[in-house]
Amino acid sequence: MITLRQLFLNHNAQTTHFPLLLEFERAKGVYLYDKENKPYLDLISGIGVSNIGHSHPKVINAIKEQAEKYMHLMVYGEYVQAPQVKFAEKLASLLPSQLQSTYFVNSGAEAVEGALKLAKRYTGRANIIACKNSYHGSTHGALSVMGNEEYKQAYRPLLPGIQFIEFNNPVDLEQINTETACVLIETIQGEAGIRVPDMAYMQTLRERCTQTGTLLILDEIQVAMGRTGKMFAFEHFGIVPDILVMAKALGGGMPIGAFISSTEIMGSLKENPILGHITTFGGHPVCCAAGLAGLEVLLDEQLIEQVEQKEKLMRGLLVHPAIRETRGKGLILTIELESFEFNKQVIDRCIEHGVITDWFLHCSNSMRIAPPLIITEAQIRQACAVILGALDFYSR
Ligand code: PLP
Repeated sequence: MITLRQLFLNHNAQTTHFPLLLEFERAKGVYLYDKENKPYLDLISGIGVSNIGHSHPKVINAIKEQAEKYMHLMVYGEYVQAPQVKFAEKLASLLPSQLQSTYFVNSGAEAVEGALKLAKRYTGRANIIACKNSYHGSTHGALSVMGNEEYKQAYRPLLPGIQFIEFNNPVDLEQINTETACVLIETIQGEAGIRVPDMAYMQTLRERCTQTGTLLILDEIQVAMGRTGKMFAFEHFGIVPDILVMAKALGGGMPIGAFISSTEIMGSLKENPILGHITTFGGHPVCCAAGLAGLEVLLDEQLIEQVEQKEKLMRGLLVHPAIRETRGKGLILTIELESFEFNKQVIDRCIEHGVITDWFLHCSNSMRIAPPLIITEAQIRQACAVILGALDFYSR
């Protein structure tokens, strides 16, 4: 009989010649389970999604309850749909006064598209500044602001008027001027291999944007929702963006993205022409209900408060001569190794031993360590022991 794996290869589009081909039957908490019921500790949270763990019962209940009331009713922004309203209100209660208007979309890339369009509309300017080694998504607009030529060269022409500056280099901030519509930047760079900027850099960036009337867009798609030890990563730097972009963990495991701004800035999507951004499924009621339930879990279980302690434990355990550097903030960490080849061997061995990890798009010699925030001390010790064992094995 033809296997599911073969059907997957036959009928599900692939984007590499070497997909992982792991096959899971269910997921719960920090673990994914294969057909033999072997648990795999998800040390990457499905790439930044499962901050509260997989299949949280409160999220499942919220999904069931909402699905029974209604699913899709209308394209985004016309009907008053309780799950969207309640979720936006909850986010507003956690955000500063400049960020009170939320536009829900379907994904991170769509949120980036919306944010870039909004900045162009509000400022009447066309120039965009982004960072080298950035990743903001895979659609044409988001690809245009990706700071790595290798992945976008085949898709030109892309958006014009985009300039790339070096992340965390204050000198480059002088390139922001009165013709710049926006600076789009990850608060902490993810796919660059987890790069945490300096406080002074972020504050100068904020000042320079304010002085030139440029909108500051912070992409927190990978780092919001408590991952860094604060609900939003910008809180570490004493700044507030003009537009905040989120997705991934926002939906508690369901697909949703958002760009959030002031009521005034967001208002520019309403005129000349009307309908500045249109999305059919954006803010799907079931996803909003799941997102709100997930956010309540994050708050009720006081998961963010535990992040710093867990980071310390992990950093203390991840000590090995093969580790060149450990970077990150909270539970978005990485260890840098000598090469991609070595990293890949170690990653494959970790997976064989039941710990799922990965490398980064623009930094292939670094290993991704970003577990669900619910990970326990014992599970951290278990995961680190597997990593150290794999490092030992290939260092011999
Ligand atoms: N921005 C950042 C920082 C990301 O890490 C990602 C995805 O990895 C995106 C944007 C794109 O999000 P999505 O895959 O939901 O389109």
